[in-house]
Order: sequence, then structure tokens, then C-alpha cells
Amino acid sequence: MSSQCSDKFVGSILASWRYDISGIAPEMRGDYESHFASCAHCRSRRRLHRIIDFSLLGLTMASALMFLLAFGITFHFAPRHALLLEIAALFGFALSALVWIVVVLATPAPVVMLDAAKLGARHVAERLPPNVLERIPEELKARIAG
Ligand SMILES: [Zn+2]
Repeated sequence: MSSQCSDKFVGSILASWRYDISGIAPEMRGDYESHFASCAHCRSRRRLHRIIDFSLLGLTMASALMFLLAFGITFHFAPRHALLLEIAALFGFALSALVWIVVVLATPAPVVMLDAAKLGARHVAERLPPNVLERIPEELKARIAG
């Protein structure tokens, strides 16, 4: 694996986008796509950044669930100072949810997921028998293909 970028100029642009080109119009992506194809350095960086994105999503979601669970336990067993603990748990939940939303908005992870879902739907659609395919509305077909 090469640890050097083959084109420092393109590489630095990609780095500033955190190696995410999903926000760029498809017809503008060609140069970057071909750079990813030829540059192992940027490919591995892109993979690393997406792993970070999904880890952040998973962590904040897990954190929100833990706070929700803490709230549920406190609510159920009603120990002393229950109200204080409940407020703390709800606050923690709200904070985790907020961080999760920020991660969703700031990272391309949802776009990557949507692309994967579209790709999956397209694979399924290709395998459907023609009589079933005819019943799928045209609008939905266009959306899967696009
Ligand atoms: Zn590169």
C-alpha cells in the first residue's frame, strides 16, 4: 500500500472535503473518481473517514439509548432523588440526540447509506420477473435507477 498521494493537488482538495465527493454534482466527480481509482492513499483515507463517520453515528446512538435506559430504570425503580436522576438522564439523552443530528448533518454517512440502499433496491429490481416489474410505478423505477 502506497502511503504517498499520487497527486498532491487533488489529494489536498479531497482531504479538505474529508474524502467525501457525494455532495458534488455527478458530472463534476469524474476527476475525483479517477483519482480514487488510481490513488491507494486517498482510497484508504476515504475508508478511514467513513469508518469514523459510522462509528460516531453508532456511538452517539448507543449513548442516547443508554441515557434512555437509565431514565427508564430510574423511572421504574423510583429511588431517592429519582427526579434529579431522571432529569440528568433526559438531559444526557437530549445531548446525545443533538450530537447524533450534528453527525448526520456534518458527515456523508447518511448519503453512503442511501446509496447502498438504492444499489440494493436496484439489484432486487433487476431480478424481479417482468410481470412483477410491470406493477412497479414508473416514478419509483426512476428513483431506483437514478
Ligand atoms: Zn491521492
